[in-house]
Amino acid sequence: MNDKNSELKDKLFAKKQNGWEGISDEEKKIIFNFSKEYINFLNIAKTEREVILYSKDLAEKSGFKNIQSVNELHAGDKVYYINRDKNIYLAVIGEEDMKNGLHLVGAHVDSPRLDLKPNPLYESEGFALLRTHYYGGIKKYQWVTMPLAIHGVIVKTNGEKVNVVIGENEEEPIFTITDLLPHLAEEQMSKKIKDAIEGENLNLLVGNIPFDDSKSGDKVKLNIMNILNEKYGIVEKDFLSAELELVPGFKARSLGFDESMVAGYGQDDRACGYTSLRAILDTERPKKTAICILADKEEIGSVGNTGMQTKMFDVFVSELLDKTKQNSINAIDVVYSKSKMLSADVNAALDPLYSNSYEKSNAAYIGEGIGLNKYTGQRGKMGGSDANAEFVAEVRSILEQNNIQYNISELGKVDVGGGGTIAYILANKGMDVVDCGVAVLSMHSPYEVTSKFDIYTAYRAYKAFYDYNI
Ligand code: MN
Ligand code: MN
Repeated sequence: MNDKNSELKDKLFAKKQNGWEGISDEEKKIIFNFSKEYINFLNIAKTEREVILYSKDLAEKSGFKNIQSVNELHAGDKVYYINRDKNIYLAVIGEEDMKNGLHLVGAHVDSPRLDLKPNPLYESEGFALLRTHYYGGIKKYQWVTMPLAIHGVIVKTNGEKVNVVIGENEEEPIFTITDLLPHLAEEQMSKKIKDAIEGENLNLLVGNIPFDDSKSGDKVKLNIMNILNEKYGIVEKDFLSAELELVPGFKARSLGFDESMVAGYGQDDRACGYTSLRAILDTERPKKTAICILADKEEIGSVGNTGMQTKMFDVFVSELLDKTKQNSINAIDVVYSKSKMLSADVNAALDPLYSNSYEKSNAAYIGEGIGLNKYTGQRGKMGGSDANAEFVAEVRSILEQNNIQYNISELGKVDVGGGGTIAYILANKGMDVVDCGVAVLSMHSPYEVTSKFDIYTAYRAYKAFYDYNI
C-alpha cells in the first residue's frame, strides 16, 4: 500500500531536487571548468564596455564578422553589431527564412555601481575626494569601507578617448569610501538603514599630499589634478565628458568548502550574459536565425540608445533582412510576430537568512538549475511581462527533452517587492518571451553569489533553445 502510494507520488508530484545529486565526476569536472572560465570573465569584464570588448574578441575567434564588413549573408554565417561600445547583437543566420521567426536570448550587461559626477573632484579638510552618483538599485551601506577600482573612459574635445582601469593590479593603489567609527556613531546607528549612509556622502577618498608648501588653497586637489594630467593628459573640465564607474576592487572567486558556488561582482546579469554569449558562439547552422542580445541600461529602465528600448535593435534586424535578401515592407514586423525569446536575467534565490521574504513553494533555489519566471512585476504583477502558457509549455518541453533541470518561481512573496527585466520590450514587438535565468543570492550587492551548477545549466538551456526547431 505504502509502496503504491509513493509510486503514485513519484508520478504525480513536482519534485524539488538539488542539481548536484546524481552528477557524475566527469560532469562535475565540466561544470567546474566552465565556471573557471566564467570567473575569469567576471574579473576581466566589470563594466558594460568591458563586456562588449571581451565579447567582440571571443566572437571574432569563433568566426563572427562585423556585419558592416559583409555585403551578403547566407545560412550558417555569423555576424555581430556593436552599438556605441556598450551593447552588442550577435547572429547566426538560420537555414529557414527569417519570416518564420528568430530564436533570441537577451541579457543585460550593466550592473549597479557608483558613477563619478560630472564635477567630481574637490578638497575638504586636507583630503582630495571624488563625488559619485549611484547607478541602479543599491543598498548604500554596502559600498563603504571596501576596496573600489575606477573603470571607464574620458573623452577629450579632440575626440581622443582615454581608457581608465585603476585598482585591479596588486601594484596599483585602490580607493575607498570611509564610514564613521562605531564609537561616534550613536546617532547614525539609530537611523533606518536606508538613511544611515546618504547618497551625497558616497564620496571616494583619493589623496592627501599637498602640491607644495605654498599658502594657496586646494593644494591637495591641485596635486591630484597634476597626477591625472601627467598620467592621462586630462584637465578638470575633461571629467564632464567622462564615464568613470566605481566597481568593487576585488576578484570573483569560488565559494564554499565544496567550491560549489561563485562569489563575485556583477553577476546580475553577467551570469546570463556570459552563458548566452557562449551558447551562440557554439551554435552552428541553426534552422531558425539565432540572435544573442547583450543590452545596456537595464538597471535604470532599459532607456537610451544603448538600452533595450532603442531602435538600434530594429536597425540590426533590418540589416540582417537586407543582407539575406529577405527584406520587404513590414518584413520586420512579421519576423517579430513569429519570434521566440528567452529573456535571460537573474532570479532572486531563496536566502536561508531571510527566508521570510519568500514563499517557499514558489521561490527559486540556488543549485536547482535554470529558473523560469512566467512573470515578474509587483503589486498584482504590475509592469511584468506575463508569458503565455503555450510558450512556457514549449520552453518546458525543450528543457525536458534535453534533460535540463529547471524550476519555475516568482520573485519573492506577494506584495513584498518586485522587479522587471527586458522581457516586456521584446514582447511588445510581438514576440513570445519568457524570463529564464540563474538564481542569485545577495543580488545587487558588491559580492553576489550563484551556483556553478546553475551557470552551466543556463549555458545548456540557451544552447538548446538556439538549436531547437519548431
Ligand atoms: Mn538583471
Ligand atoms: Mn538588476
